[in-house]
Amino acid sequence: MKLFDSLTFSRLKEGLAKTRDSLVTRVNRLISASGKVDKSFLDELEEILISADVGVAMTSQIIVNIQQRVKDERYQNQDELRAIVNKEISQVFVNGSGGNIKDPFFIPADAKPYVIMVVGVNGVGKTTTIGKLAFNYKNAGKDVIIGAADTFRAAANEQLEIWAERAGVKIIQQLQGSDPAAVAFDTIKSAQSRNAGVVIIDTAGRLHTKSNLMEELKKIKRVIGKSLPGAPHEILLVIDASTGQNAIQQARQFHTTVGITGIVVTKLDGTAKGGIVLSISKLLGVPVCFVGVGEQINDLQPFDAEAFTAALFER
Ligand code: GDP
Ligand code: GDP
Ligand code: MG
Repeated sequence: MKLFDSLTFSRLKEGLAKTRDSLVTRVNRLISASGKVDKSFLDELEEILISADVGVAMTSQIIVNIQQRVKDERYQNQDELRAIVNKEISQVFVNGSGGNIKDPFFIPADAKPYVIMVVGVNGVGKTTTIGKLAFNYKNAGKDVIIGAADTFRAAANEQLEIWAERAGVKIIQQLQGSDPAAVAFDTIKSAQSRNAGVVIIDTAGRLHTKSNLMEELKKIKRVIGKSLPGAPHEILLVIDASTGQNAIQQARQFHTTVGITGIVVTKLDGTAKGGIVLSISKLLGVPVCFVGVGEQINDLQPFDAEAFTAALFER
């Protein structure tokens, strides 16, 4: 069973074009311009990394490593220096992001249906990601049911219906304004009666600072757990890559409230700040499972730190 075979490395490269331009291209330009590692070089490098949202901890590590490398090793020319700098940045990215912590598609045998709850603030790409996920699980031979527990927004049902249709999966919904936890409950019952393999629950976007809405999320989770002990098996937090450092605040708050098990970083194609993908899992201790690189149904990729870094640095 091969998942995501419609998705290629080149698509990831395309999706990272803006981050590559702001990060790798700027680093290479810096190397061409200065040709040697001195204080002003390191200051400028630091600025480039921070502005791509690589994060302070990872940036400091990169600077320290490069200082050490050039102290230990003589480089003859700019190409050698470029190779050293790119290598050190890649290494910190791959190590710091935890590498590939787990197979995002692993489904334990005793989890049937396997329940994924999707949370996050408004407009980050939850519904789109659910459509993409459903499509991929369906292609992998799973019977998928989506639960439309975003009962808050008027157009939410319709939007999710369109995605369910594209993915070719079933959807459970109720009228706008109904209790989202009740929709989640219905969805699991329906999945059990159909012997479905995967349930994906959409939720309304909410600000991480609104405590009543965060409580509502807890309730949805609790009700899911009552209808199927052990569920939800996965709580995915969706964050928009262009949000910058505020994404960290969002993630912390959602994590505290419901205990997220994985992160999906969307809209990488639209931002030069793709560095957030690399720093967030270290800060939270939660892996990035998927990245979104476009609006189409096949624009979701399992996160692979090595492929991600290679897509950034490959020339
Ligand atoms: P939700 O409010 O969190 O459910 O967000 P939606 O799924 O409705 O998405 C909000 C907008 O973001 C839509 O216009 C999507 O097409 C867009 N979007 C979602 N993921 C991506 C992505 O990976 N890349 C791009 N460019 N747009 C995305
Ligand atoms: P207030 O200004 O703090 O009273 O809150 P709002 O006017 O934003 O919303 C009133 C109620 O509508 C909230 O208590 C929520 O139950 C609901 N609500 C508002 N915005 C959202 C949202 O973005 N998501 C969800 N799920 N519910 C919302
Ligand atoms: Mg939505």
